[in-house]
Amino acid sequence: MTIHSASARLDGADPADIIARVGAGLDQMDQPYRADPAQWLDYDTGIGLIRLRSSDGGLAIDLEADSAGNLHMLREGITWQLDQLGLPEQAALDWADAPDAERHPPNFRVATVLAKSRIGASFIRLRLAAPDLEDFARSGLHYRLLLPPARRDPKWPVIGANGRTLWPEGEDALHTPAYTIRAIDAERGHFDTDILIHGRGPTCAWAETVEEGAIVGLSGPGGGWLPEGRKLTLLGDETALPAIARILESCAPDTVGEALIQVDGEGDIQPLAAPEGITVTWLLRGRDPELSDALEALTLPEGEGRFAWFAAEKSQADRARKYLRGKAGFDRKEVYIAAYWVNTDGADDLSGDR
Ligand SMILES: Cc1cc2nc3c(=O)[nH]c(=O)nc-3n(C[C@H](O)[C@H](O)[C@H](O)COP(=O)(O)OP(=O)(O)OC[C@H]3O[C@@H](n4cnc5c(N)ncnc54)[C@H](O)[C@@H]3O)c2cc1C
Repeated sequence: MTIHSASARLDGADPADIIARVGAGLDQMDQPYRADPAQWLDYDTGIGLIRLRSSDGGLAIDLEADSAGNLHMLREGITWQLDQLGLPEQAALDWADAPDAERHPPNFRVATVLAKSRIGASFIRLRLAAPDLEDFARSGLHYRLLLPPARRDPKWPVIGANGRTLWPEGEDALHTPAYTIRAIDAERGHFDTDILIHGRGPTCAWAETVEEGAIVGLSGPGGGWLPEGRKLTLLGDETALPAIARILESCAPDTVGEALIQVDGEGDIQPLAAPEGITVTWLLRGRDPELSDALEALTLPEGEGRFAWFAAEKSQADRARKYLRGKAGFDRKEVYIAAYWVNTDGADDLSGDR
């Protein structure tokens, strides 16, 4: 496999301070990394390595990834982190090998809608065809749809100075929700994605009206890979169902554990392929406990190989994080906990609009 690498130097700021503050940011996001606070920090992001070193009074930044797209995302990630530290000027890093300006970023693709079908009561499955999908099959479970405003010709992202992505703004701004690669055939050049029609977002409106042959932008892949443990505890709502389904059908046959999936009604219960040792339980919203209550009622596995995976609405994910990393005693490497959506309308509305 080809290793893609990039490096840059940041002078004019205290390297030990930056290393400590990047570490503190990763702590806040509950991300595992290794560091000697004043000297170096190594962060394995899941799509590649970020190495920070104090060197000759400045900061040396080295990145390594297995594809040009992942390298680009690492470069953007560290630039974003430096922006967060209030170092935007310095973060205009001079990357020795930045991709050519004005081209599309290497993790951008234009996809064509090959097929569309309804699955269950609330999901639309789209089959999207795009070039060079090898990355999508091996280095990330998720990607972003890039949806242009209705009735406008799409303007896609391009690379600006210093390797940053320049996103279209104003009337051309893209809607960029994250979705899951439910199944993929990279050789044939297509993948499936299941879109929950929750009735409130632009993506729902797009998925309901889009026709075969339409084009859409993609950015990715990213967002982590399949969990490796053999003792899995998986919980999620509909937005996490595509990821849980893929994890269940990809895990080793001797994997044991539980999968709890919350849906609105029986019409969204799907047949799932899972190892015999994994019990799949469907929780119906309004009838059964909320996901975080269900999590706290489980007897969780002990010892090596355990892994807890939780994705749902933000308030549920926040509770799950507090419980798993607190009382349940799971360490950072034993969990994936993610807010897959944010309820902007207040908790009381959760089931009413679907
Ligand atoms: C890593 C990752 C992977 C994901 N994979 C999938 C996937 O495979 N399939 C999938 O359907 N979703 C998935 N999601 C969730 C999806 O990105 C969000 O639901 C997103 O908000 C959808 O965008 P939108 O245009 O529908 O709504 P937005 O423009 O984001 O929001 C518009 C309104 O819709 C509401 N809303 C958003 N999501 C929901 C919801 N689920 N239920 C009720 N109201 C909602 C918001 O509160 C807001 O009021 C994933 C999210 C992440 C982070």
